[in-house]
Amino acid sequence: MSDFKTEPYVETYYRDTLNTNEKRHALSDNIDTDICVIGGGLAGLSTAIGLTEKNKQVTLIEANRIGWGASGRNGGFVAKGYAQGYKQLVKQVGLNHTKKLHKLATHGRSLIKNRIKKYEIDCGPMIQGVLGVSWNNHPESVQQYIDFMRKELDAPLEYWSKEKVRDVCKTEQYFDGFYSPEDYQFHPLNYVHGLADNIEKQGGKIYEGTKALKIEDRSDGGYVVHTPTGKITCNQVVLCCSIYVDNLNKKLKYAAFPVYTFVMVTKPIPEDRLNAALNTEYAIFDNRYAQDYYRRLPDNRILWGGRVSVSGIPENLAQIMTRDLLKVYPQLEGVVEPDYAWGGSLCYAPHKMPQIGQLKPGYWYNTCFGGHGLVPTSVGGDVVSSAIAEEDERYKLFAPFSKLNFAGGPLSPYIAQSVYYLWRARDILINLNK
Ligand SMILES: Cc1cc2nc3c(=O)[nH]c(=O)nc-3n(C[C@H](O)[C@H](O)[C@H](O)COP(=O)(O)OP(=O)(O)OC[C@H]3O[C@@H](n4cnc5c(N)ncnc54)[C@H](O)[C@@H]3O)c2cc1C
Repeated sequence: MSDFKTEPYVETYYRDTLNTNEKRHALSDNIDTDICVIGGGLAGLSTAIGLTEKNKQVTLIEANRIGWGASGRNGGFVAKGYAQGYKQLVKQVGLNHTKKLHKLATHGRSLIKNRIKKYEIDCGPMIQGVLGVSWNNHPESVQQYIDFMRKELDAPLEYWSKEKVRDVCKTEQYFDGFYSPEDYQFHPLNYVHGLADNIEKQGGKIYEGTKALKIEDRSDGGYVVHTPTGKITCNQVVLCCSIYVDNLNKKLKYAAFPVYTFVMVTKPIPEDRLNAALNTEYAIFDNRYAQDYYRRLPDNRILWGGRVSVSGIPENLAQIMTRDLLKVYPQLEGVVEPDYAWGGSLCYAPHKMPQIGQLKPGYWYNTCFGGHGLVPTSVGGDVVSSAIAEEDERYKLFAPFSKLNFAGGPLSPYIAQSVYYLWRARDILINLNK
């Protein structure tokens, strides 16, 4: 008997505004399935729904609750792109390859929207439009970025002058920026549940509280996934375990490192005071290395995200995040009170790109989505499910990033933290020169 215990959802605004009470049982038997997906975050669920949509027999197991990890705790920004920026990607793999990856991201973003519509998933309000604002006054570099995105990647970004930005973000911290009309925001945990419901409606099976402990090769091909309460015999297996993969697969474990990041949600703010600070429903992020990202919630709260750490969640997280908010909007002093503050773990590879591929025939991985994962998890689910069901080869576009090199072992989080401090130091220097 294992002493494994299922973790409930951590306390978040999303948990408390979840529109379903549905819980799924743990596996309690030995079963056969064609494909076993391990991990019930958006990587696993997107893979599973891609498979059920293609009439494949699939079983998904989740150690805790579906969306228990980053997928149910994020900022809810559905924005095209990868954790690695496009300009850097061009340096890594060239312009043509970057264009193909970008095309996948455009498709991934539409796929989320189409599924919300097709399955009538109640994960709103879905508000179209994300605004990237500059912390410093360099309009030429904003314009250069927009030109690059429009010309090379066909992204319809719009330039916003300082006056236009400050008309909606009433702060002297920001200068000009760009508006991305096709990105949007939603309630990620309600989306997670909507996907899960529809996987099951299409014949897929989902077990919560069911941790994969070991994957064994079968002598006749295929695999056996061992859990504390039963075995799953399958032809193919897809690992979507993010940073929690641990000893289930040591290659994946050592090819990535964990980083924590944080969100705070305020109590509702009187509307007139909120409008005098943040007078837009667009989701906002700034262009610093260590950026803030935030948005208004329907009941006049602010969801405020930012910061990274490797040493877990600070005890005074709510105060730290409130301080960050007040640095940008000092006029909210006295009306901002934190209601929720939480952290979540991200999975990073040194190249900041997803790790998607096959370790051996029928043994897939779809993981490592860093801090910009909502669209890329949908891309990963799409290419892996299409590869399994239709022998589609688009997943090979991620081959330059799927070598699973050693990412630094126990030292890697500290390297990441040092890089973050370096970023903050750079931001401070830039700020001094404002
Ligand atoms: C605070 C925060 C804010 C963010 N904001 C944004 C944002 O606004 N926009 C954006 O695009 N991205 C954002 N992200 C990133 C995004 O949420 C992630 O990249 C994405 O959700 C990763 O999905 P995943 O399925 O790979 O991992 P997870 O959601 O972490 O899921 C992995 C799941 O696998 C399960 N699991 C692991 N091992 C096993 C096992 N052995 N057996 C069974 N199950 C197992 C875990 O329990 C977990 O539920 C944010 C992340 C955080 C933490």
